[in-house]
Amino acid sequence: MANTFEVAVFAGDGIGPEITAPTVEILRRMADASDAYSLTFTDAAAGAAHYAKTGESLPESSMVAAKRADAILLSAMGLPDVRYPDGTEISPQIDLRKALTLFAGVRPVTVKAGQRTPLNMPEGKEIDFVLIRESTEGLFHTQGCGEVTENEARETLLITREISEKLFKFTFELAQSRKKAGRGKGRVTCVDKANVFRAFAFFRDMFDAEAAKHPELTADHAYVDATALWMVQKPWDFDVMVTENMFGDILSDLGAGLMGGLGLAPSADIGLENAVFQPCHGSAPDIAGQGVANPMAMILSAAMMLDWLGINNDNAGMIADGKRLREAVEDVVAEGRVLTRDLGGSAGTAEAASAVLDALFVS
Ligand code: NAD
Repeated sequence: MANTFEVAVFAGDGIGPEITAPTVEILRRMADASDAYSLTFTDAAAGAAHYAKTGESLPESSMVAAKRADAILLSAMGLPDVRYPDGTEISPQIDLRKALTLFAGVRPVTVKAGQRTPLNMPEGKEIDFVLIRESTEGLFHTQGCGEVTENEARETLLITREISEKLFKFTFELAQSRKKAGRGKGRVTCVDKANVFRAFAFFRDMFDAEAAKHPELTADHAYVDATALWMVQKPWDFDVMVTENMFGDILSDLGAGLMGGLGLAPSADIGLENAVFQPCHGSAPDIAGQGVANPMAMILSAAMMLDWLGINNDNAGMIADGKRLREAVEDVVAEGRVLTRDLGGSAGTAEAASAVLDALFVS
């Protein structure tokens, strides 16, 4: 199997370029030091600043590069002051998700011992679960074209068999690989509202059908409202959760809150052919250009990329490097010596990224 992988890099807007440069540097250093794989990087222009300059938010050449690449690394796009004539924001990351049918939004939530979290964690407990948000349909189906009259507004929730079956297959496979890696309990929870809506009973039936193919894993269900409660009261109980688009949108921010903020929340949007890895946060224009942005969510997203490429290409060296990179970030954060302002420290972007490089190559 080929072991050279092309990464399309969207440096994006606001703090995007500031967190992209050190992340790519870390990936370069890791690949250079590895016999198992090498990486090439192709810069792809897109975003609000690009739109303001050229009138195009996602040029065809960038879409071609994204489709051709083995993986896509993206920082954040959009600037509140740059808008299309209809008043909506420039968001090529959503266009990519739709164009490449990236149905599985993977949002890991981890809190290691010693890490700052708003929760009062019982002694010895750590949080390590993954929330999978369906990302192409659900209540986002009519995004941008809901009907609004003077007295009524309507949006439509869509759940299809085609996407749901792929989503659940992906979910159970992810739970399996976590269990194999010694990270998860092998538990998969379908988060829905099947007590009230027929659409969610349909969603749950398809989940159960996939669960039946995986007797080695435990499958259960939870209503979304109770899940929000349990994510605060006993988040260490969860392993892999899967849910509809809007529920996932809301619960993933709750997950980021458990981790102490958006600066530590990575994500992946995965389809059958392509995948985008990007932090959960936006372009943070309020701190752009100051060198103070937290690069950790982007670096953790890059670690997810190595893991995904490694699993898909049966490349143990890449899987090991993905784990090593994630653990290097977790160690730096848990140690608490080099933290950016959003995490209560005073380090800048460069210092935080250097601490990760030191954890990888010096200690
Ligand atoms: P935001 O996530 O950019 O910022 C929210 C707050 O978190 C700000 O105070 C910001 O300074 C802080 N923050 C975010 N990332 C940080 C980091 N890495 N380090 C330190 N602090 C960080 O959300 P917003 O202000 O609502 O949106 C700003 C722009 O980003 C908007 O144009 C929005 O449309 C866009 N956006 C893009 C994405 C994406 O590309 N996936 C996601 C959300 C928002």
